[in-house]
Amino acid sequence: MRVVLLGAPGAGKGTQAKKLIEEFGIPQISTGDLLRAAVASKSDLGVQAKSFMDRGELVPDSVVLGMVQQRLGQPDCQKGFILDGFPRNTSQAEALDNMLSSMNMPLNAAVDIDVPLDDLMKRLTGRRTCSSCGQMYNIYFNKPKSEGVCDKCGGSLFQRDDDKEDTIKKRLDVYTSQTAPLIGYYKNKGLYKCINGNGSIDEIYSSICSALKAA
Ligand code: AMP
Repeated sequence: MRVVLLGAPGAGKGTQAKKLIEEFGIPQISTGDLLRAAVASKSDLGVQAKSFMDRGELVPDSVVLGMVQQRLGQPDCQKGFILDGFPRNTSQAEALDNMLSSMNMPLNAAVDIDVPLDDLMKRLTGRRTCSSCGQMYNIYFNKPKSEGVCDKCGGSLFQRDDDKEDTIKKRLDVYTSQTAPLIGYYKNKGLYKCINGNGSIDEIYSSICSALKAA
């Protein structure tokens, strides 16, 4: 199964991707996670990406495309993959189509987790991530049992630098102007599946599974 997960920042792409990888045994490719790892390692690519990320802007395609191409070429992607946070604009979507057609691995579906923009602000400002296992929480909707501590592994929780209010506003603007046009792009290709992103994690997951079965 080869799937693109669409949806604004905070729509729950990462949470749903983690459930899909557990069930289907295919890798999640999150360009946000790859870029954050590059920033943490202070590689050339990370240094290039950091200022864009801190401002809530998209990192240039030239940086992101090479990273994705390299990842898709790894053996674990032969069984399928879930792209989370990529593509983010039409030129990335076209580049992805070219990459996948040359690898003879066309997409099966583009799944959009649809959440009204007004709800996203609270989701993003409340988001916390475990520094050890990556488990995600929300201090408004899905609190850990003990403040600041991961229920699963006891690791400490942190707030992403780009989940601060000003950067969030910018990221949502970027989504509306650059990423939302992908809805039309994938509709034209007959791949678009819209999922209502308001509901419990399990409800949303089961809608995604039904949409994927029908794909
Ligand atoms: P995310 O974790 O997907 O919300 O991504 C965090 C930040 O990484 C974004 O605000 C962008 O600065 C950058 N980023 C992630 N994916 C992409 C992409 N496909 N193209 C450009 N920038 C990206």
